[in-house]
Amino acid sequence: SFCTAVTLVTGANKGIWFAVVRSLCKEYSGDVYLTARDVGRGTAAVESLKKEGLTALFHQLDITDPSSVRTARDFFTEKYDGLDVLINNAGIAFKVADTTSFGIQADVTLKTNFFTTRDMCNVFLPIIKPGGRIVNVSSVMGSVALSRCSPELQACFRSNDDTEEELVGLMERFVRDAQEGVHAERGWPSTAYGVSKTGLTTLTRILARNLTKERPGDKILCNACCPGWVRTGMAGPNATKSPDEGAVTPVYLALLPAGAKEPHGQFVSEKKVQPW
Ligand code: NDP
Repeated sequence: SFCTAVTLVTGANKGIWFAVVRSLCKEYSGDVYLTARDVGRGTAAVESLKKEGLTALFHQLDITDPSSVRTARDFFTEKYDGLDVLINNAGIAFKVADTTSFGIQADVTLKTNFFTTRDMCNVFLPIIKPGGRIVNVSSVMGSVALSRCSPELQACFRSNDDTEEELVGLMERFVRDAQEGVHAERGWPSTAYGVSKTGLTTLTRILARNLTKERPGDKILCNACCPGWVRTGMAGPNATKSPDEGAVTPVYLALLPAGAKEPHGQFVSEKKVQPW
């Protein structure tokens, strides 16, 4: 038997998530797993934490590779009997100057930021232990994109009874509309990254509702958050926060104290629940 609590952070070899792991190593008593799709980059990140006197463990995980996701799930099931904290951070964004067609940007961005992040949630949810925490790293850009959707689409994303299948259908429709060049006339904003995060925040709301319904005694809290504008490879050097500052809200949500009932199913930034 084992009582070690474990945390898993995806895409943690650099950026905010490396800082999240660093902070968790300091504040969390259980084992902390830094995962990355590239073994070399991941183990190098673990080594650099070691130089700071911090211990993180490594596991390979590419969220777009179903067998990699299953292998990681089986590893945590066998070694720890499940997982206490899951932080879905892995994400991508095309640079503004990128000339890749909007249809391809929509397809590629939603694949990582929405569809395979959803797979991560669904593959790992059954092994999340009672009292567990799920943190999905979304973005305020998802809220901005929501406000630029047609009123009909906004109503779908804000609905309190839409199902996960309906949301998936909506996200597939966005990719199709983008590929056909009709997304604007169908009420979508021209931001693939934004819409991917609108979808991720909405997914988080739905998963939280399902948890409340299906596992009411387990007290699992599931939230989405924005780290702020953080100096990383993604946001560039002009952003206002350091990675350590960007880690504050995700770490707060990951370590909500035992017995806490909220936030749950919320979008949180600067440690505060934001309107959706
Ligand atoms: P970075 O580009 O610095 O880091 C992204 C991380 O995700 C990298 O470690 C990358 O790994 C990993 N990743 C990408 N695809 C996969 C995959 N298929 N499987 C596993 N890992 C993957 O970005 P940030 O740290 O800035 O962003 C992290 C998160 O924060 C994202 O979800 C982003 O949308 C969000 N965010 C960031 C903001 C900012 O201002 N920086 C603002 C709002 C939200 P690799 O090195 O192998 O590419």
